[in-house]
Amino acid sequence: MSPPSTPLTPGATLGVFGSGQLGRMFVHAAQRLGYKVHVFSPHRHSPAGLAADVEHVGLFTDLASVERFARGVSAITLEFENVPVETIHAAERCTIVRPAASVLFTTQHRVREKTFLRDAGAPVGEFAAVGSLAELEAAAAQLGLPAVLKTAQMGYDGKGQRVLKNTAEHADAWRQLGPGACILEAFVPFRRELSIIAARSSTGEVALYGPIENEHANHILDISTYPARNITRSSAEEAERIARRVVEALGVVGILCIELFETGSGELLVNELAPRPHNSGHLTIEACDSSQFDQQVRTLCGLPLGNAAPRQPAAMANLLGDLWENGEPNWQRALELPGVSLHLYGKESAKVGRKMGHLTALGETPEAARALAIEARSRLSCRTMGS
Ligand code: AMP
Repeated sequence: MSPPSTPLTPGATLGVFGSGQLGRMFVHAAQRLGYKVHVFSPHRHSPAGLAADVEHVGLFTDLASVERFARGVSAITLEFENVPVETIHAAERCTIVRPAASVLFTTQHRVREKTFLRDAGAPVGEFAAVGSLAELEAAAAQLGLPAVLKTAQMGYDGKGQRVLKNTAEHADAWRQLGPGACILEAFVPFRRELSIIAARSSTGEVALYGPIENEHANHILDISTYPARNITRSSAEEAERIARRVVEALGVVGILCIELFETGSGELLVNELAPRPHNSGHLTIEACDSSQFDQQVRTLCGLPLGNAAPRQPAAMANLLGDLWENGEPNWQRALELPGVSLHLYGKESAKVGRKMGHLTALGETPEAARALAIEARSRLSCRTMGS
């Protein structure tokens, strides 16, 4: 459906495809503004469904269920970029969906995404589409090794990818990741990873958060710091220029995270895009007047964007299920620290590697905020009360 010329005002009912923690934080932001939220979830009692006004349980491939859901809401957003494009098309027949199917079509496929970025003039590392072992060998000869082989679709948190160091690994890597479409990327010897989160409204207004500095452990985001430590003004401005260029070329209405590599020489290269709020932007809840989730509501409803500038440096530490291995974490010890906020996602069982929540810490400097977030997380493992 074509977007309305007037904003969707509080009191309207919004929908969200996907029901994890990103959906849950969207629900909180929307409800605070007076909206009702229905969540489309593949299972009952999901993190977002527990917070929502209605949890609609269904499969993304069940288009009749998708249409029933879509008819009950005034607009739909998503928290998961791999919602099938046919699902978005089905929903678009009944209501407004932001971001649009065309955005997902580009960002769901690494070859299409990298080609789009290159054509838009955004800096990217060298890459080649790979559809067979012979093409993999040719691409590796052209790009050189090491290189990273990734499935074109459905990879996340380092899944569906492998670093190739020598030609002897090609056949095994292709058996592991083929036979579907893949991409081979030149290995980028980056110094660190950064992200910029952009909100773009239907009138073309853009608000940017970042660059945020991201540190990973076992391919999962571990710590984010905003502003990134020791970032030069010119580097921050370059990252913003890239982000503006990308959101404008993509024409996205909603939230887009642009993940970047910063190389040893300070060059910035785009790694990938996510057309939704991002784990690295959770700290915007405490650090900014309007969080990434507030902006998701505003972009969905056609409201003016909020102020994205950070009020104070902030850092986030992810809380994985591993923390529960020896029993309930010591919440009191972490929350004794001034400037620390706890977010738990309402997941029933803690599994190793599962994102259960996060801590945000505010500080006078990015370094101080990061140190406080790390200190707060380490206190969760203190076994004796008060120690
Ligand atoms: P992705 O799923 O593309 O975000 O990749 C997951 C992680 O793998 C990234 O956060 C990087 O740490 C690493 N990685 C991905 N692509 C490359 C690359 N071309 N060169 C070096 N490291 C990479």
